[in-house]
Amino acid sequence: MGVFEEPNKIFLYGDNIRKAEKLMGRYKNILGDIKLKDIILAHEVFHAIEWENSSLYTNTVKVEVLKIIPFRRKGTVLCAGEITQWSLLKGF
Ligand SMILES: [Zn+2]
Repeated sequence: MGVFEEPNKIFLYGDNIRKAEKLMGRYKNILGDIKLKDIILAHEVFHAIEWENSSLYTNTVKVEVLKIIPFRRKGTVLCAGEITQWSLLKGF
């Protein structure tokens, strides 16, 4: 529904957001009066912040991806930013 394009562009897909908001309307009693567009925009802004700050946790966290004794290989978690962002947005 949104895309951050380096270095400073954010695209929001209005048709998709409107369709999703219409669907969300059925669950307004559970979801409350949230604006999906604001959530998607905040999500993409976080991607921009991530892109500009290589030292952010989401850019530096490593997990063990291969272990052949005595060798170990660590790799970045490509979805760490996604997990972090959605966790932060729960507070909205
Ligand atoms: Zn994302």
